[in-house]
Amino acid sequence: MLLPIEDGDEAIVATPVLTIVVPCYNEEEVLPETVFQLSGVLDAFIQDNLISSASTMLLVDDGSKDATWELIERFHASNSYVTGLKLAKNAGHQSALLAGLMRAKSYSDCVVSIDADLQDDLAAIREFIVKFHEGYDVVYGVRQDRTADTFFKRATAQGFYKLMTSMGVNIHYNHADFRLMSRRTLDELEKFQEVNLFLRGMVPLLGFPSTKVFYDRKERFAGESKYPLKKMLAFAFDGITSFSVTPIRFVTSMGFVLFALSVVAGLYAIIGKIMGATVTGWTSLILSVWFIGGVQLLALGLIGEYIGKIYKEVKRRPLYVIEKEVIADQRELASVP
Ligand code: UDP
Ligand code: MG
Repeated sequence: MLLPIEDGDEAIVATPVLTIVVPCYNEEEVLPETVFQLSGVLDAFIQDNLISSASTMLLVDDGSKDATWELIERFHASNSYVTGLKLAKNAGHQSALLAGLMRAKSYSDCVVSIDADLQDDLAAIREFIVKFHEGYDVVYGVRQDRTADTFFKRATAQGFYKLMTSMGVNIHYNHADFRLMSRRTLDELEKFQEVNLFLRGMVPLLGFPSTKVFYDRKERFAGESKYPLKKMLAFAFDGITSFSVTPIRFVTSMGFVLFALSVVAGLYAIIGKIMGATVTGWTSLILSVWFIGGVQLLALGLIGEYIGKIYKEVKRRPLYVIEKEVIADQRELASVP
């Protein structure tokens, strides 16, 4: 029986119900190992009285084309820690994660999100829970050693964080989506209603007590990255345009600078004409026309990008569709409002 301990105004649950949310897209190769290792983690925590025995993992199948869902069903039948959610089609990592978080929220005191590929160090989860017991609502897992990632991935990731920070977006350097969140954090997150999801930028906006836990990033256990360069760039671009209007401001200031330059050039041409020296050559003319044309197209494209975002937000389409789920009975009961 779980009894909340009254501590001032806050009710701290002695042994919280933890749900580990794992988005899975075509992960049949790693899933057996992931389930095995996460079950071990839950076992150990329950034994050490860190979490309630009602804790589980929630595997979210993000419309996989391989046997991921069949595996989840099979594990659910034999392993009481395993619950699953099947999305009707591929919604993308962020949406799949949100689907899991929002489902788990109704029956969990805290939720840990982690990728299926075992790149993040499971040992850090224990520290997450310890921090949660200390009263933190959000615990960010921060990679301190990324040597397992390719040089290219590290360099692009670093450039991305620097760019985001320089634009005034508050994200944690080297933190992806490996984190713990309390139930009230998830309740607040639900209010955001954003269609252009960038969770690692949204969570710091909440402002709840938070801390970091450092860990070493490992290689993918098996299978290939589901984030090829194209998807990664799109994600980075989405992150920037969803969180900052600095690029538009930059374009505006560039417009001013170009305008000022063209005034100077115009004056120069007029003075040259008066003084009797004609402005020679059409090369410079054509070049400047092309240059201005290029800048204008760039600016239009950027503005279009923001308008596209507004368009998506206005339509308010659901981010994911849940096709079916396998969740333990007591949790189904707990989630009834
Ligand atoms: N993922 C997902 N939907 C997608 C792409 C990826 O749910 O459309 C999941 C994937 O199964 C994994 C996590 O998101 O658990 C991170 O993906 P991955 O490890 O391939 O990315 P990387 O670590 O290479 O950035
Ligand atoms: Mg990975």
